[in-house]
This record gives sequence, C-alpha cells and structure tokens, in this order.
Amino acid sequence: MLQGKVVLVTGGARGIGLGIATSFLAAGAKVMIGDLGAGSDWTYNLSSKQDMEKVLKQYADLGDLDATELDVTSAESARNAVSATVQRFGGIDILVNNAGVVGSGPVETFSEQEWDRIFAVNTKGIFLMTQAALPELKKRPGACVVNTASIAGKKGHANMSAYCGSKFAAIGITQAMANEFARDGIRVNAICPGIVGTAMWLDHLMPTNVTDQAEKTENFEARMRKTIPLGRSQTTQDMGQAAVFLASSPNITGVSLTVAGGIEMN
Ligand code: NAD
Repeated sequence: MLQGKVVLVTGGARGIGLGIATSFLAAGAKVMIGDLGAGSDWTYNLSSKQDMEKVLKQYADLGDLDATELDVTSAESARNAVSATVQRFGGIDILVNNAGVVGSGPVETFSEQEWDRIFAVNTKGIFLMTQAALPELKKRPGACVVNTASIAGKKGHANMSAYCGSKFAAIGITQAMANEFARDGIRVNAICPGIVGTAMWLDHLMPTNVTDQAEKTENFEARMRKTIPLGRSQTTQDMGQAAVFLASSPNITGVSLTVAGGIEMN
C-alpha cells in the first residue's frame, strides 16, 4: 500500500524521526528527511550536517532515501524542503511532522526564549510545514499527515508546562486539520510516543550525573522496566510501526494514537 509513496519526515536524522523514516523505507516508500543540520543549537545537541550524511550512507541500501536541510520554524525553509522533495521524488503523499525540542523547568525560572522556541518548533512547525506541503498533498489520492505529539499532550506534568502545552496543542491541531482537510480526502493523525531513549531523555530529561552514554542508557532502561506496565521503554521502531499503520489506514483520521506500553492509556 505504501509502495512508491513519497514521505517527507521532519526531524528525521535521528531518534524517532529516523525510526519512522526507516519504517516507511522498509514498506517500500521513498523518503526525504528534513532536519536542522545545525548541531549544538539548543540545551542539548540537535542533529548536525554530519548526522544527516551518516544516515544517508548507513541506510542507502534500504531504498530511495535523501535528506535536505530544514528549519520547521521558518516558512521559507519549509517551502524549500517541500520543493526539494518534489524535485527529488516528484511529489509528496505523506508528511510526517516529527521535529521537536524539549525543555523543562519550573515556571518561576523558565525563560521566555525557551518557551517560545518549544512552541515554535513543536507547534508552529506543524502549521508551517503543513501549509507548505498542502498544495502537493492535494494532488495525491490518499494523502495524509502524521504528527508526532506525545503522552505529554494527554496529561500535564510538573516542570513541563511549555512542552506539555505544545503537545496538547499538537493534538488539537491534528483534530482541527483532520476536520478541515477531510473534504480533500487528506487524513491527519498523530502518534503519541511514551518514553523513548533518544537525546530528549538521555541528554535532557533524565536526572543523572553519568556522562558515559552506555551507562546512561542502561540506567534509563532499568528505570523504564520498573515504570512502564509492559516492562520496557518504547523504541523508535515502535513509533515507525505506528506511523506506517496510520498512513496505511484509509478510514482513520483525527486520531492521536498512544504508543506507550501502558504508561498512558488515553
Ligand atoms: P531527538 O532530539 O532525537 O530528535 C528530534 C529531531 O528534531 C532532531 O534530529 C533535531 O535536529 C530535529 N529538530 C529540532 N528542531 C528542529 C527544527 N527547528 N527544524 C527541523 N528539525 C528540527 O528527539 P526524539 O525523541 O526523536 O523526538 C522526536 C519527536 O518525538 C519530537 O516531536 C518529540 O517531542 C517527540 N516525542 C519524544 C518522546 C521521547 O520519549 N523521546 C516522547 C514523546 C514525544
């Protein structure tokens, strides 16, 4: 069903976005990764140009894969990424709005800049990318959008007001766009990942003094075995599988699908 479809995945150079990109490749789709290529631009490192080049080399054998630099907070950059995808693969069938940043801290001391950036990437980024891709999506029968929201968009957590707010918004935007685009036959859904051991958790959210990456991962997994009902953290492949499911389910729209091993059930 996804054979030959063209997918643009934002924030696809690593983590959940890369899991989604490789899952679509494995399903026979052609994939364009859009990512920042900026490296150390946030409180933890985001993807660099080298990360993007490495991914292209590593997964070249899986199928048609390419990458383009993209900042989802810029309307011009969003339009350029759409053009690059159309030039390379002839159109866009599936837009995956996955790029995101996390920041945490008490409201009393949280910076306005950090608040604005979280909303710019996680929320406005969905609007700008979808607006840029819409004319292309309208040309393709069965087109759809998949947004990466979060379980943080289903329940508020202390010290996470900016991030939770941005993800509640992502779910609302998903429903609003699903209603708006239904007449064009374009479906809009979201995945709500639980806890995935990417940079967001290992380099920011998990309180630790450990610097060794392997030890950090081990501590993280040990904690998740105890915390998550199904006994493990979620993988980037779990997210890819859910995104592929939503993209290939012709009568599902407006859904925000939790993939969280039971830690969140709504
Ligand atoms: P990650 O930091 O590994 O990946 C995020 C990617 O987004 C990076 O490659 C980064 O360079 C890119 N990015 C950031 N700002 C960008 C911008 N302005 N333009 C384009 N690309 C940009 O983290 P991840 O865990 O893979 O996060 C992916 C998505 O999943 C995010 O939306 C995140 O909020 C969501 N999520 C993650 C978890 C988790 O447990 N890791 C849980 C729920 C939701």
